[in-house]
Amino acid sequence: MAKKSKREYVWLECSECNARNYRTEVSVAEGAPKLELKKFCKAERKRTVHKLRRK
Ligand SMILES: [Zn+2]
Repeated sequence: MAKKSKREYVWLECSECNARNYRTEVSVAEGAPKLELKKFCKAERKRTVHKLRRK
């Protein structure tokens, strides 16, 4: 009945200036994944660590 994979929209938030630069979809079937990604921060114009932030 229930779907195997539940997906949720999350924000990728810059850990340095807290700008929410990206929005993505993740699977939350087995708890929320704690992801840290190196992404380009538009506000700072450099690559920084972005963390997943659920709404
Ligand atoms: Zn930033």
